[in-house]
Amino acid sequence: MSDAIVTEGISKKYGNITALDGVTLSVPSGMLFGLIGPDGAGKTTLYKILSTLLLPDNGAATINGMDIRRDYRKIRASIGYMPERFSLYPDLTVSENLKFFASLYGVGIRDNFDLIAPVFSQLAKFPDRRAGALSGGMKQKLALSCALIHRPKVLLLDEPTTGVDAVSRNEFWAMLSTLREKGITILVSTSYMDEAQRCERIAMIDRGRILEVNTPGRLAAGLGRNFYNASAREMYPLLQALRTFPEVKNCYTFGATLHVVTADGFDAASTVRRLETMGLTDVKIYPATGTVEDLFIKLAENG
Ligand code: ATP
Repeated sequence: MSDAIVTEGISKKYGNITALDGVTLSVPSGMLFGLIGPDGAGKTTLYKILSTLLLPDNGAATINGMDIRRDYRKIRASIGYMPERFSLYPDLTVSENLKFFASLYGVGIRDNFDLIAPVFSQLAKFPDRRAGALSGGMKQKLALSCALIHRPKVLLLDEPTTGVDAVSRNEFWAMLSTLREKGITILVSTSYMDEAQRCERIAMIDRGRILEVNTPGRLAAGLGRNFYNASAREMYPLLQALRTFPEVKNCYTFGATLHVVTADGFDAASTVRRLETMGLTDVKIYPATGTVEDLFIKLAENG
């Protein structure tokens, strides 16, 4: 499998703020690839560089073999980019936005409609509604339709579902899977960990550096063995108590239980007994498998 997106040592500073610090990354062709990291990690800066809107200070990058500096025109014609913020014209209607983007790329609105149809089907019911009056989910579907109008080979999606309701997010991701099946390479950033789990591979980015690239399952498994679930009848006192124990590095609510990150040598059985002598009842602590969300929490706390 060849690589559709390759970056080598990309660095970018804004004044004295380092946004990217030697980012080296390869995204295989046709893959649904996730980029996750806390706010300010550098994701948007990387998208701007890949979409040729911003030049890096150092390093090189190619999209399908085209160089971001030399071949920027060709790159712009072959990618679809959805920026973090709503990028369409709010005063233009649904169909006017689509026509506008089609004309920018010199294609007809029907030329690639097979690609857009699944995304656009719900929007087709109100072609004359102004984009600014659409719901969050519909706005994102329109933005994706516009990003697809010229049949790009690579889609760059910067937090496309932020602020979108859960049902629309689910629909949006189902569409990404369909597009991936059509051979489009997708680099998508997200701060929703259920979405990160849906990627074939994810890169964790923090403070401008790529920490690790792996499948979601293997990344979460990398959290190691010092990871437990804890519960008791009295959940909040349990959380408070565990946080005072020196062998507990971190403890936070996770669904109906607590996730506990411990130091080496943590003994679950003796900890349960200790908590029971403190008056807690029905205490259970057992080894757990971390998720991508746990990794993200760890990253955000390190930051
Ligand atoms: P977010 O999801 O919050 O947008 P991000 O991971 O996309 O975060 P970037 O927007 O790339 O991160 O920002 C990386 C760093 O660069 C941050 O510290 C940010 O404050 C800073 N930064 C971004 N754009 C500029 C700018 N135009 N001028 C100065 N600093 C900037």
